[in-house]
Amino acid sequence: MVSKDTQEVIQLSIVRIENLTKKYGNIVAVNDLSLSINEGEIFGLLGPNGAGKSTLINMITSLITIDEGNIYIKDTNTKSNPLLTKSFTGIVPQDIAIYEDLTCLENVKFFAGLYGLRGKELKSKAMEALEFTGLSDKAKDFPKGFSGGMKRRLNIACAIAHNPEIIIMDEPTVGIDPQSRNHILQSVKELNRRGCTVIYTSHYMEEVEELCSRIAIIDYGKVIALGTKQELKSIVKHKNEVWVTVKNNIDKIVQEELKEIPGVTDVEIYENTVMVYSMHESENLESIIAYFTSKGLGILQIESKVPDLETVFLTLTGRKLRD
Ligand code: ADP
Repeated sequence: MVSKDTQEVIQLSIVRIENLTKKYGNIVAVNDLSLSINEGEIFGLLGPNGAGKSTLINMITSLITIDEGNIYIKDTNTKSNPLLTKSFTGIVPQDIAIYEDLTCLENVKFFAGLYGLRGKELKSKAMEALEFTGLSDKAKDFPKGFSGGMKRRLNIACAIAHNPEIIIMDEPTVGIDPQSRNHILQSVKELNRRGCTVIYTSHYMEEVEELCSRIAIIDYGKVIALGTKQELKSIVKHKNEVWVTVKNNIDKIVQEELKEIPGVTDVEIYENTVMVYSMHESENLESIIAYFTSKGLGILQIESKVPDLETVFLTLTGRKLRD
């Protein structure tokens, strides 16, 4: 896999996307996008609704055609051998895709059967997948009355029974209860621990931060930033925020004086609120408070915020991930 002698680590790419474009009429859903996903990692695709994540995933799994560019999975071009490249992947689509008039076991057997599993092996793999998703006692039940979270877990069982090397999950936690959400996040970690490469799309930055070793931030069909969460956050290391609200409207001079405090990178004033940006780890909160106290500005409220991936997105695009 990834380890080598001494300290050196070689990253082998398992999915290689080169100059990929997909258009729907005038909409460029994926725009000349290139990306490499390494074997054994949990790779996050983070972006707002409409960014192009599902379109990208649907091309990786050959569910839709590619307009321009190429995708290689384990060095095989998806255009030249889609059956083979599909067999390397298991997809958990955004919209739950299960048959409500089949039992859980029948559902998993149906999907795993599409990948060529038959007979005893099919049944045992299907049962293993149900066990993994905590649904083995529901094997003979019909999913009709299941909660959204349970249906999603069944969908995951359907995607993993054929033991794919790459699991692709498209917004798997949208609209489900917290318990199932937690179950899904733990399943992703466990699948990865067992050796699966996971591609995980979300517009919830908290999930991506928790799960993913590397993250691509996608906007308007393009990768606008790529790296580990530490690398991405370093884009905004000057953006530690402290908001101070005082009794009265603030004079312009305060802006200039606050900029003299070590670590402060910018100051903005909105009526009686001051927003002070500082370099990460500059530990100047006490100095900022001391300034307001020394000027007798009567602090009403203080809030501080360490930059997160939302800050990164906001800084790069001027927009929020979620509206
Ligand atoms: P995401 O998964 O990030 O929410 P999508 O890939 O679903 O984004 O959509 C990217 C863009 O392509 C959006 O503007 C969306 O409206 C458009 N789009 C996606 N699928 C279709 C389709 N089948 N027909 C027309 N437009 C589409």
